[in-house]
Amino acid sequence: MKKFIPTLLTSLMILSCGQLQASDDAKTSTIAASSPKNIIMIIGDGMGPAYTSAYRYFHDDPNTPEIEQTVFDRHFVGNSSTYPAAESGYITDSAASATALSTGIKSYNGAIGVNVNKQPVETVLEYAKQSGKRTGVVLTLQINHATPAAYLAHNVHRYNYNAIADSYIDDGIKADLYFGGGWKYFIREDRNIVDEFIQSGFHYIDNYSEISTIPANKPVLGLFAETGLPWALDDTNKYRLSMMTQAATKQLENDNGFFMLIEGSQIDYGGHARDIAAAMHEMDDLAKTLEYLETYVKEHPDTLVVITADHSTGGLSIGKKTERSNPNINSKYLWKPEFLRSMSMSPETIAKRFIDKELSLTQLSELLSFKITATDMENLQQAKLADHQIVKQFKLLATDVKKSKRKPRPYQSVFNVITKIIDVKTNTGWGSISPSGTHTGIDVPVFAFGKGSEMFSGFQDNTDIAKKIFTLLGKK
Ligand code: MG
Ligand code: ZN
Repeated sequence: MKKFIPTLLTSLMILSCGQLQASDDAKTSTIAASSPKNIIMIIGDGMGPAYTSAYRYFHDDPNTPEIEQTVFDRHFVGNSSTYPAAESGYITDSAASATALSTGIKSYNGAIGVNVNKQPVETVLEYAKQSGKRTGVVLTLQINHATPAAYLAHNVHRYNYNAIADSYIDDGIKADLYFGGGWKYFIREDRNIVDEFIQSGFHYIDNYSEISTIPANKPVLGLFAETGLPWALDDTNKYRLSMMTQAATKQLENDNGFFMLIEGSQIDYGGHARDIAAAMHEMDDLAKTLEYLETYVKEHPDTLVVITADHSTGGLSIGKKTERSNPNINSKYLWKPEFLRSMSMSPETIAKRFIDKELSLTQLSELLSFKITATDMENLQQAKLADHQIVKQFKLLATDVKKSKRKPRPYQSVFNVITKIIDVKTNTGWGSISPSGTHTGIDVPVFAFGKGSEMFSGFQDNTDIAKKIFTLLGKK
């Protein structure tokens, strides 16, 4: 806030310089003329600075001497702090951070578009809609997940998924386009919210192949999965965020402009799971999305694109302490992402297959795209036995005890061994010590291009990003 006010005053002074005698109307039109018509806000969930750096090396063409620049490198403008309201300490969750980015206020971890007193606060998406712009959300998790919900809803807690889904109709429809997952919450026994959208004039699709058939100028709801979409590595379209974004920009275009929120949602899931392979392929889909938007902004220069992260996840480190005894690692300073590039299936899916079938060392090596050792294979067999035991023991629990516990994932131990093997092979490190991972309090990078992008340079707080967008939307 303190940082923002001088910036805002300076920019207003610059805008009104030379027209100090001008009427309020003239000032308004000066601000309006400098504002982009379309604003695209992008959040890489969990995408701390280690992720954009790691992506550079993942993306590098090893056949050229230079390390190729990424789309992130091209548009880096500054940093952002991410801490939540004081009552939640220094480390934010996705809800508090998305609330900061959508409203400009700090709130507690778990808050969806509400302040520390649990009162609703207006979001940039709501303001854009009210000022006559079209609005849309595009993401790879369910559309009522924390990040989009903080732009579209007001709720005391992010995990009130059904209530948040209900509010998408009950509080008035706030977006003209929704692309993501969420059948579980929108087609329920007690309520069919998809039907309610259709009755409100929405075109509904539930398959990527239907994206090309959406009628022009019609609001659209596209739900493509029960909850989140498959990992990029497993999806029928590895570049699904990019594909949905291309369709969304076309669908939202209109004379008054649009505000769109895009989220690369599952980078965070990769970080929590300490799964570098999944995380890098999610980054790749987000990078493809940005590359498309580069061409979009060239054709539509009155568009602003701002990209940041809500926080960093997992304490990813590019390189970790060398295990001297490991013959695969021969240098302290080494990160080897080449094995990740050629993977074509997520470690999670490989783990499920290993549980379901007898896979040989050779078959596993093929799936992982590098040769595993006999010791790796032994560890995997042991993990498989451990998983069988965990599932067996859970089944034996009394029904009421079962309800109070989280159902174990029948492949968790195998998955942990697979990701550990990949970490050793690539020399990837993680700060978090448990498979559920953690968020870290490090500042996140900010990228921007297009009209008004210079406003986002330097150091800022995540709340400043919302304030700057409100200013660009013309809010006084
Ligand atoms: Mg190169
Ligand atoms: Zn997270």
